[in-house]
Amino acid sequence: MSSNKLQIIKTMQPKEKPDVNQVKFGSVFTDHMFKMNYTIDKGWHDAKIIPYQPITLDPAAMIFHYGQTVFEGLKAYRTNDDQILLFRPEQNMRRLNSSSERLSIPQIDEEEVLYYLQQLISIEKDWVPKDPGTSLYIRPFIIATENSLNVNPSCSYTFMIILSPVAAYYPEGINPVRIYVEEQFTRAVKGGTGMAKTAGNYSAAYNAQSAASTLGYSQVLWLDGLEKKYIEEVGSMNVFFKINGEIITPELNGSILEGITRKSLIQLLNSWNVPVVERKITIQEIVEAYEKGLLEEAFGTGTAAVISPIGELIWNDLSIKINQGETGETAKRLYDTLTKIQTGKISDPFGWTQQVRELDETIPSH
Ligand SMILES: *Cc1c(COP(=O)(O)O)cnc(C)c1O
Repeated sequence: MSSNKLQIIKTMQPKEKPDVNQVKFGSVFTDHMFKMNYTIDKGWHDAKIIPYQPITLDPAAMIFHYGQTVFEGLKAYRTNDDQILLFRPEQNMRRLNSSSERLSIPQIDEEEVLYYLQQLISIEKDWVPKDPGTSLYIRPFIIATENSLNVNPSCSYTFMIILSPVAAYYPEGINPVRIYVEEQFTRAVKGGTGMAKTAGNYSAAYNAQSAASTLGYSQVLWLDGLEKKYIEEVGSMNVFFKINGEIITPELNGSILEGITRKSLIQLLNSWNVPVVERKITIQEIVEAYEKGLLEEAFGTGTAAVISPIGELIWNDLSIKINQGETGETAKRLYDTLTKIQTGKISDPFGWTQQVRELDETIPSH
C-alpha cells in the first residue's frame, strides 16, 4: 500500500455553500469525496480524492444482496481562530477495522486512511461551518462490490469518505426527550453484529423506532435480546444513568456498540473523581432507584448530539420521570466540557483533538 500515491482531481464546478442552519441533517455534501478500491491481488489501491459524484454499481453487486458493509461517523470542528479540529479520528479508524472484521471485510491501514481523511478535510476546509454547534460530519464507509449472488464474502470492495455540513443538533439548547422501553423487538444479541457499525443493525431498528415515534416518544431504550432485562442502548446512542451520586453505563457485552463519546465521557468523569462504573444494569434496578428517589439522571451519548438527556422513560404502564424532565447537572457539565474540547475553546489535556494540516501531496512512508 505504501507504493500508492493519492491522486487528487479537483472539481471545476464548486457548489454554492448552503446556510447550514437551514439544511436537514446529512442531506448536503461537499465538493469532493475520497474513494479507493480493494481486490484480492492488489489489496487496497487507487486512492483518490475526486469531485463528489454518483457511483455506478452492477445490480448484482453484493452490497445490495447480503449487506456486507460497515461505516463510521465523526466530525470536524472549526475553532474561533479558524483551525479545523478532528476529535479522536484514530479511534474511528480502529473501530472501522473491528466492524470490518465482524463483517469479513478486509482491514484498512488506519494511519494511511487517516492521512487521506486529513487531505480530504484540508481540501474541503471552507465547508467546515462557523456557527456555534455546527460541524462537518464525516462518513467513511466500505461496501462489497463483487458482482455475484453467491453467499460468501465479496472479493472486491470500495471504501469512500463523504462529508456533510451539519447544523447544531440542539439549536435551542439541550432538551430532555421521552423514551419508550422496547419489550418486543431486539436491536442486537451477543454473538451477532451489535458491536459493529453495520447497516443491518439500523434498518432492523426502524420498526420499533417508528412505533415509538407514533406514540410520541423520540426513541426506544433497547433491552438485551435474550432476557429483556438488561439495558443496552438508547436509539443509536450509548446510555448512562446517575443513581445516588454514581454514574453507571452498561458494560460492553458484544451486543453494545462501543461509542467514542462513551469512552471519552468515562475518562472525563474519572478525571473529575466522579464515581463511574461499567456494569450490567437491569430495567428493574432503574425502577427501584426511581421509586426510592435515587434516580438522578439518564442520558444518551454519541457523536451526533454528544449528550441527549432523558426526561422520561415509559416501561409498560409506568412513567419514570427523571430530574423533573430537566437536564441534569452531570449531563450538562459533560456536554459543556466535551464540546469545548472538541471546538478548541478549552485546553485538551487528553490529546483527543487533531488539527487538520495544510494540504501536502506527498504520502507518508510506512
Ligand atoms: C455510533 C453509535 C454509538 C455512538 O458512538 P460514538 O462513537 O460515540 O458516536 C452508539 N450506539 C450505536 C448503536 C452507534 O451506532
